[in-house]
Amino acid sequence: MRRRPGPPTSEFEQFQASALFCGRCQTARPVRERLLLVLPDGELHEYLCTVCGSSVGTRKAEAEPPPVLLS
Ligand SMILES: [Zn+2]
Repeated sequence: MRRRPGPPTSEFEQFQASALFCGRCQTARPVRERLLLVLPDGELHEYLCTVCGSSVGTRKAEAEPPPVLLS
């Protein structure tokens, strides 16, 4: 475990994730999220079981749409 100086709140919030059902553990487990792919229109994130490390799901984060210029 590494400690970094500074307020840990923002990092802690990023680290926190909801629990998802893990097929290998056969129960709901807390998951961590990692960036899997960067797509042209967003990012694909993968949820990994924090207990066994297997992938339990993905989430696609849509990219911010470009601002519409009104003429
Ligand atoms: Zn698991």
